[in-house]
Amino acid sequence: MNIHEYQAKELLAKYGVAVPKGIAAMSVAEAVAACDQLPGPLYVVKSQIHAGGRGKAGGVKLCKTLDEVRDYSKSLLGSNLITHQTGPKGQNVRKIYIENAANFAKEFYLSFVLNRNTSQVCIIASREGGTDIEEVAEKHPELIHSVAIDPSAGLLDQQADDIAAKIGVPAGSIADARKQLQGLYQAYMDTDASLAEINPLILTGDGKVIALDA
Ligand code: ADP
Ligand code: MG
Repeated sequence: MNIHEYQAKELLAKYGVAVPKGIAAMSVAEAVAACDQLPGPLYVVKSQIHAGGRGKAGGVKLCKTLDEVRDYSKSLLGSNLITHQTGPKGQNVRKIYIENAANFAKEFYLSFVLNRNTSQVCIIASREGGTDIEEVAEKHPELIHSVAIDPSAGLLDQQADDIAAKIGVPAGSIADARKQLQGLYQAYMDTDASLAEINPLILTGDGKVIALDA
């Protein structure tokens, strides 16, 4: 089963993972009304499909005004979005997610996946987030870090801190990154997930670590 970004973020928030404030909408009116509930002043309208690559395909849009939210929601809802992950047929956009815009200093890649060869959950992390991780893996494999988690011990503080340091989280934000990593690990285990991918995990201008995609 695949879940949408807004559902994943709702779930992660229950585990203490920091996510931007957001509201799902199925109509233009709902999208505009959602902005009233968000701090603003900048919003991001995100198409909810079961595929990544939305940003590059025009499915994620930063909006500076309510008019922009209205126009963009109108053009997205009901449209067919083709990304490099949807296949040529694309996917129909039936829901959008209106999110508060975050300002970020850095974008990281983070995922949890089951390594079936070792029967262990594995963390994959990189300082090169926001872009195609497949491309980073091909051109700069040295920038991708992978750590196996002992199922009886769980994700240890030291392990989480080491990963955060390796991808370039500054010292003052390591404890915050640990909280996000451990929350994500707990969510992954409790839901019996096969893949949890946060790309990007961001560092905000004021040093907070937030899951910007899920
Ligand atoms: P996808 O992986 O499907 O392209 P993302 O959620 O990763 O979708 O969004 C694509 C890009 O849009 C992100 O890498 C980020 O730069 C930007 N973005 C997404 N959500 C926000 C947000 N809430 N605030 C600011 N920028 C965002
Ligand atoms: Mg993404």
